[in-house]
Amino acid sequence: MRILLSNDDGYFAPGLAALHAAMLPLGEVTVVAPERDRSGASNSLTLDRPLYVRTSAQGFRYVNGTPTDCVHLAVTGLLDHLPDIVVSGVNHGANMGDDTIYSGTVAAAMEGFLLGIPAIAVSLSGRSHGNFAAAAAVAARLVQRFSRRAFPEPALLNVNVPDVPEDRLGPLEVTRLGKRHKAEPVIRSQNPRGDTVYWVGAAGDAADAGPGTDFHAVAQGRVSVTPLQVDLTRFAQADALRGWLAG
Ligand code: MN
Repeated sequence: MRILLSNDDGYFAPGLAALHAAMLPLGEVTVVAPERDRSGASNSLTLDRPLYVRTSAQGFRYVNGTPTDCVHLAVTGLLDHLPDIVVSGVNHGANMGDDTIYSGTVAAAMEGFLLGIPAIAVSLSGRSHGNFAAAAAVAARLVQRFSRRAFPEPALLNVNVPDVPEDRLGPLEVTRLGKRHKAEPVIRSQNPRGDTVYWVGAAGDAADAGPGTDFHAVAQGRVSVTPLQVDLTRFAQADALRGWLAG
């Protein structure tokens, strides 16, 4: 099995190293990841400058671009063979609910999906205990499942894993995205030269976090697996819109 790995935290990130270690026994593993932390890059492509690809001491390819650039480059020309699956992560921090819109981790997987390859985004929900190996093991089990039995439809899976050791992880739960409250306000500050600067504030707390959501599953210690789609059309609103436009 040919496995393409990427992330948004950068090629040096511990979550990527854990993912690489977990995937090595499963097939031919290639890493193409950003040269620096591009968390929050969403689906951006770099169109205003050339991209280079360098190789790290441990054989990871890294790119002066976004997570989307990395997977796009890999699949559309860099690699000799198309990967059978794209796995992105393990992200340092959850990507649940609205996070998925901003996430570079999800975007890297989504780029694979858009290019016709099954893809999995994996995030560690929690930033304190660093159980990347457990999350990577979950990803490896999913990849093994893909290799044993092809999923009959195009698949983009968003996986969030509680930050606990593997033997304390609950079962997989198929979820939907929850929703967060509005983000915290920007934080106004001053740089050492007295200029006013702003920091984007924290994401809002979970608002829609009831049973069935990714937030709920992870809070219960289970591994959340959300099937994602890319079409943003709000079909249920089309009739209301037609009426409003005709009125
Ligand atoms: Mn990240």
